[in-house]
Amino acid sequence: METNYIIIGQGLAGTLMAHELLKANESFLVIDEYRESTSSKVAAGMFNPISGKRMVKSWNADALLADTFNAYTELEILLNCKLLFKQNIYQLFGSVKEQNDLSTRMDNEDFAQHVNLFPTKEENLNAGFGAFEIKETGWVYTQLLIEKMNELLVNNNCLLNEKFDYNELKQIDNYWHYKNIKAKHVIFCEGYKNNDNPYFNYLPFVLCKGEVFTIKCAGLTKDKIIKKGIYLVNLYDDFYKVGATYEWNDLTENTSKEGKTFLEEKLNDLLKIPYQIISHEANIRPTTKDRKAIVGEHPKHKNLFILNGLGTKGVMHAPYLAKQLFSHITLGNEIEKEININRFDKLVVG
Ligand SMILES: Cc1cc2nc3c(=O)[nH]c(=O)nc-3n(C[C@H](O)[C@H](O)[C@H](O)COP(=O)(O)OP(=O)(O)OC[C@H]3O[C@@H](n4cnc5c(N)ncnc54)[C@H](O)[C@@H]3O)c2cc1C
Repeated sequence: METNYIIIGQGLAGTLMAHELLKANESFLVIDEYRESTSSKVAAGMFNPISGKRMVKSWNADALLADTFNAYTELEILLNCKLLFKQNIYQLFGSVKEQNDLSTRMDNEDFAQHVNLFPTKEENLNAGFGAFEIKETGWVYTQLLIEKMNELLVNNNCLLNEKFDYNELKQIDNYWHYKNIKAKHVIFCEGYKNNDNPYFNYLPFVLCKGEVFTIKCAGLTKDKIIKKGIYLVNLYDDFYKVGATYEWNDLTENTSKEGKTFLEEKLNDLLKIPYQIISHEANIRPTTKDRKAIVGEHPKHKNLFILNGLGTKGVMHAPYLAKQLFSHITLGNEIEKEININRFDKLVVG
């Protein structure tokens, strides 16, 4: 079998890459080992152009947001399901200092356009210091996206459900051969499993485990994301995804007692009303040392690419990065330096 591209991994990175190839009518095969839980499947799927404790606009936020809205809207049409939920974030202040910090930041027009200082009051939340709203935010139903894209790939005979065996990958002339498949380009989108990849495991990933609950709670707003230390995203009816923890030492995919305690304490502090924990999940985010994604061609192996390091913001980054990698491969356009794999070239050995 001959194809133009092989993509390894069908999380957010592989799914958005496949979307680029579908749009361009390129032939490709995705190799993905089915796993019930992956980072993309447990994620809350939120996107937000304002980030961190310091509340600053994140890197290339406007361009990333535009691609986020475009790509997930296109995917809704392609996959015939609702994936993109535009909802403001209802952010509760934790202290007077946080209130003051925000009013200082409002002098910056570029920042202020994303903020509503006077939202309607939400009942049933402990909001002693008040709240504000962040606009142009929302969430993507990542679990459904992965599932529906998987179905489409199976129906188009372009999905192989198996663990990729690196020993079977050989470069002959200008082609990559994997078992009986011959391809011009290979793109690795393996998330945190990249650490097992002999070609790209020199890259400085710093993995970060995250845990989330799904809870049932009647009496909370359903059209906003609630945030105070943790977030609550309304999935449907009275069911909310609640997250998340950040853990850099225990890197198993198991849920932990510490994670459960953390989420429960935050929920008890935030909610005035009772809730029921329906499920508790964990997985590993592929974060990097400099907190930027890693995109591009292997410095020594031509036509071997990586799209990874989506970190804590896979939803907002995956469309932008997939588009950039595709235009690099097909048009030779330069990948931006902040995310370019070549910033780590001095780490390659051999
Ligand atoms: C608890 C939690 C909450 C999160 N919340 C958010 C959020 O609200 N917003 C946000 O933007 N991001 C969030 N994230 C981060 C987001 O999930 C990640 O950035 C993103 O999902 C990473 O996608 P990926 O495709 O790189 O990796 P993955 O989702 O891990 O996908 C990799 C895929 O490749 C497959 N694979 C790997 N190696 C091989 C191989 N050798 N052979 C075959 N298949 C292979 C895996 O089985 C998997 O299907 C969250 C993460 C966690 C853990």
